[in-house]
Amino acid sequence: GRKFFVGGNWKCNGTTEEVKKIVSTLNAAEVPSQDVVEVVVSPPFVFLPLVKSTLRSDFHVAAQNCWVKKGGAYTGEVSAEMLVNLDIPWVILGHSERRALLNESNEFVGEKVAYALAQGLKVIACIGETLEQREAGSTVDIVAAQTKAIAAKISDWTNVVLAYEPVWAIGTGKVATPAQAQEVHLELRKWLQTNVSPEVAASTRIIYGGSVNGGNCKELAGQPDVDGFLVGGASLKPEFIDIIKAAE
Ligand code: 13P
Repeated sequence: GRKFFVGGNWKCNGTTEEVKKIVSTLNAAEVPSQDVVEVVVSPPFVFLPLVKSTLRSDFHVAAQNCWVKKGGAYTGEVSAEMLVNLDIPWVILGHSERRALLNESNEFVGEKVAYALAQGLKVIACIGETLEQREAGSTVDIVAAQTKAIAAKISDWTNVVLAYEPVWAIGTGKVATPAQAQEVHLELRKWLQTNVSPEVAASTRIIYGGSVNGGNCKELAGQPDVDGFLVGGASLKPEFIDIIKAAE
């Protein structure tokens, strides 16, 4: 079976005081065991050491990005090697905010995923269509093309979690319905089955992101191909604990 996965993407939020508060709330929470749910929180780079050193040991940390290749003369970037050096196990790559605001292409994201995996990082790879693309009926084509650009550059999917995050649902309060999420997740699993392998299709976690909260998580989690969540806004609040509990 695929272990339920709950990621908290803090995005570009937090002060030292706020981060300490979130960590202490998480540390005090009673949640299902690591056998049932894998929990990963992703603070901004500058808070990674603080979070890593203070967070309970059954939760893990992720960076929100890393450089596409070996570090060097790339001012402002953080390399995969640095994350490995700091013992950061996970990285989020290809988030729609970076695709849209920083022009990260499908190919660039595919290269990043391959490079990060090769350094030993585990990757939460994000894909998803815009409202315009959904309304044009091209959702499946878009997410397949995004997945294909990743699949073209990697062969081992063991350390990849695929995050389906429809852009129109991110930060909008307009969550995908359980049926909408399930439909795309199933299409993605079929794509993996046909284009990668039945084994990878069966074992790869496909998680949903976009306005997930304490109220809507349970029904989404009940869908057969929804293997967890990538949570933005609600991951900064105590409500994140309720979302973790949706694993049960
Ligand atoms: P929200 O949960 O704030 O909609 O953000 C989702 C997201 O982008 C997680 O990566």
